[in-house]
This record gives sequence, structure tokens and C-alpha cells, in this order.
Amino acid sequence: MYKKITYLIVCLFAIASINQSAKALPTLSVQDTILRYVPGQRYIFKVSDSSGAYATAIEYIPGDSKSKLILTSPHGGNLKPEFIRTRTKDYVATQDEKDYGDTESFSAVSDSKTLELTMELADEIKRLTGLRPHVVLNHLHRSKLDANRGMSLAAQGDRNAELAWKAFHQYIDAARVLVLKNGEGLLLDIHGNAHRPQRTEVGLLLKAKDFLSDNLEQYADQSSVKALVKGGKATMTDLVKGKYALGTLLSDEQILAVPGRSIPNPTDKTVFPDGKYFNGGYNTARHGSKFGGLLSAIQLEFNSDVRMDDRKRPEYVKHIAKAIHQFMDKYYN
Ligand SMILES: [Zn+2]
Repeated sequence: MYKKITYLIVCLFAIASINQSAKALPTLSVQDTILRYVPGQRYIFKVSDSSGAYATAIEYIPGDSKSKLILTSPHGGNLKPEFIRTRTKDYVATQDEKDYGDTESFSAVSDSKTLELTMELADEIKRLTGLRPHVVLNHLHRSKLDANRGMSLAAQGDRNAELAWKAFHQYIDAARVLVLKNGEGLLLDIHGNAHRPQRTEVGLLLKAKDFLSDNLEQYADQSSVKALVKGGKATMTDLVKGKYALGTLLSDEQILAVPGRSIPNPTDKTVFPDGKYFNGGYNTARHGSKFGGLLSAIQLEFNSDVRMDDRKRPEYVKHIAKAIHQFMDKYYN
């Protein structure tokens, strides 16, 4: 009996996830992407060495077919397989990746609990809206793969890390195909910052100095939400500091977020003397609409109070999901 139960559990697990490893994911046509990825199924990309040791590196859970939302967690992973080279700050990039936002700065510090935050947000958004968003997770620790940099800095030449990096972006590309069946979409790249005093930072690729201008519209072309502005759904001013800006909606939910209506300049030194602000990195640039297309992207850098405490996080998740729901309802309905 015991054996039978064990076998059943193993079978169920095998059915519940589809594993892909060792070699790169296939490049698929739009039609094949639609046929391959089933909502709610787990697609897992594993990395391994010649001795048979392996690690679950990247995971994609396709959302419901009507969902226009993708959540990505590039820095929340904890796995440090010994067979992947540990990244160092001395590594020099071998290719020019400057078009895609912050591709140069080095960090091996993970954004703690953002993987959990991302998964809990997906559940809460499903509960709230009836539609599960697409979720792409990097399970590798940032010291092994930085999934928010160009490949050479992200993987530093390690073959497994490079394969994982490619899988991360291929899964996002697949999610993009599925989301755009609905005409348009939004990707939220979920991070954590340690800036003090604490605040959540909303990155649209506008630079700190841009917020000093009284004409934000001139920055639409360089932003990761260009499609929303060009499509006439919102002005740049709406998206930075309007009533339905994500920073405003989060702040209305008691999660202080900038830029937004109450603090339109995220580096206002009278409020934040450190002058620090994350304006969006590689993923926001690569997968948003700055370079065209109808998928926009926003980087969300949550402060530590929001994400670190396992007992308090569920309450914050409810508020964040509500803000995201209001944003989607306003601009993606
Ligand atoms: Zn991060």
C-alpha cells in the first residue's frame, strides 16, 4: 500500500510539472507557443552538471488565457548550485547591452522574499479578478544568475547560467505571445529595495532628472509604457502622478510608493535625503514597449516592511493586488 501511494505521488508530480533541461528551449512560432503552454501548468527549466546534479532554475506558470498581466521575479531565488560559477564584481561585459537600461552595475544580493511575494500576488489577483496572471520565476540566487542584466553580466560565461538566462527570457516571450492574443498587456518586474526611509519605487525608465520637468510627455518615447501613451490610453503625466498612476494607487493602499500623486519626484531630497531611486532595469527595457510592441512594463521595487515578514506579507499582498487590479481595470480593460 505504502509503495502504491508513493508511486501515485511521484506520478502526480510528474503530471503536475513539465521539465526541460540541459539544452536550450526550442524557439517556437506563435501558433506553437499557444498550443504548447497550458494555463496553470508548471514549466520548469533545470540546469545540471555531468555528474547528474541538477537544480530547478527557471519556472513558468502560464496564466489564464484572458489575462493581460505577467509577473516576473528575477532576484528572489535562493538556489546556489556549486556547479554554477559564482559571479564576481570584477567581470567585464563582453558585449554592448547598453540599450537595455541598467546593464552595468554589479550586485549579488538577492531581493529577499520577492519570489514568495510574486507567487502570493498571483494567487490574490486570481481571487480578486478571476484571472490568474502569467508568472515567470528565477529560482537561482543572484550570486549565480542576475536575471535583470544582459546575458554576459548576468551569467558571466557559465554555460548553465546562460541557458537559464535564455530560458527566463524565452518564457517571458511565450507569456507575451499568450497575453497579446488579448490585444495588449503589462509586465510587472517584482524587486525589493533597501532604501531608507522606506518606500516602494515604481520604474518606468524615466531618469531622476526627468521628474524635474514640467513637460513629462516628452519622455514617453523612452519609457517602458510607451504603448499606453501612444495608444491614447494615458498621458505620461497620468502614469507618473495621476489618480491612477501605480504609485498613487499603492500609496492610497497605505504602501508609500513613488513617483505618485503625493510625491511626484522620487528623488525629492526633502523627503528622501539619500536621493536613491531605481527607475527600471534590463527586463523593463527589453520586455516593455520602449522599443515597440503592445506589451508595456513597470519595475516595482518593494521596501522591506512590505515583503520580509511572512506573517505580515499576506495583508500587504491584498493591498498591492487591489492597486494592480485598479490599474489594470483603468488602462487594460
Ligand atoms: Zn532586484
